[in-house]
Amino acid sequence: MGFACGIVGLPNVGKSTIFKALTAVQANIANFPFCTIEPNTGVVWVPDPRLTRITEIFHPEKTTPTTINFVDIAGLVKGASKGEGLGNQFLANIREADAIAHVVRCFEDKNVTHVSGLVDPLRDVEIIDTELMLADLQTVEKRWNNAQKETRSGDKKAVAYFQVLTRIKDGLEKGTRVRSLNLSPDEKTALADLHLLTAKQVFYVANVNDSDIEAPGKNPHFQKLMEYATIEGSPVVAVSGKMEAELAELSDDEKGKLLQEFGMEEPALYRVIRAGYAILNLLTFFTAGPKEVRAWTITQGAKAPQAAGVIHSDFERGFIRAEIYHYDELMQLKSEKAIHDAGKLRLEGKDYVVRDGDIVHFRFSI
Ligand code: GDP
Repeated sequence: MGFACGIVGLPNVGKSTIFKALTAVQANIANFPFCTIEPNTGVVWVPDPRLTRITEIFHPEKTTPTTINFVDIAGLVKGASKGEGLGNQFLANIREADAIAHVVRCFEDKNVTHVSGLVDPLRDVEIIDTELMLADLQTVEKRWNNAQKETRSGDKKAVAYFQVLTRIKDGLEKGTRVRSLNLSPDEKTALADLHLLTAKQVFYVANVNDSDIEAPGKNPHFQKLMEYATIEGSPVVAVSGKMEAELAELSDDEKGKLLQEFGMEEPALYRVIRAGYAILNLLTFFTAGPKEVRAWTITQGAKAPQAAGVIHSDFERGFIRAEIYHYDELMQLKSEKAIHDAGKLRLEGKDYVVRDGDIVHFRFSI
């Protein structure tokens, strides 16, 4: 499986509605390798206007967007860390996700029951985060005694590990999420095998009524969530689950009309997908030719051979060099030939760090 965002939130906040809309909107795209791996996992294409522009220049036989996965994680309720609701099954699902999309109910609708009575986004966030912190505390406590014993040898690594584990334990006991502890990259690597839930980056999906979608800032629930998320440093995206579910069912023409009515250029779900992509520290590079123009995903900082490996493992093993130019140069010069003639086609070796928007031809031997 590729990179995945887990969708969490209390019951009845609109998770399934948003998940279904995310996957249904994709099913209408021609040539898209759409599939639902499991009932709760959907492969979702990443909308990228650059792909359209490159296609206009190359006129390929087909165009393929890049994808990320969304996983609908049900069963997170108050007491879940003690086995209530679906118990530990949801924890296993969240552990596998690379980042979290936290859906928060900001819509009033007397026909849709709220599990805690009234709509209150900050209380909802607190309930979910408390369960995740309790689960992390259990994980850390299980490891803590052994980690302490291992410091007796005086091994520097063991001492450092115990220190960071203690910092996390103290933090969690005071209600601090692991992601707010500013761990160093080395500390993060040392802790990776614990798969701590509150160490994952989060963005909030504020589920508002369609009447709020043009100006969500006027919705007081959204305002509160926004203030909270800004302090935490997490992005917020406003979506109307109900409207997106309707949009997903429509033909392109009808969709355009409805979007226009609401003053929107594209479905709000696109912003959810992009937020997920951004929070995962991913970037997009392209391959382009007469057969196919295609977008590919790698993590920021990846080098040319790793990027080649995303296309095919043989490309990575046999990597010789990459011929690269940038999307911006293509937009200026309008063709690959013009780029070549202007001397803008660069030859890069195995240490080249790929940039977002690079257009690449890999040279390899197998
Ligand atoms: P989940 O339990 O979080 O997966 O929630 P669901 O997606 O099943 O939604 C719970 C109920 O809320 C359903 O009846 C949805 O139709 C309704 N719902 C979802 N999004 C919206 C919305 O934006 N506005 C309103 N009014 N209802 C919504």
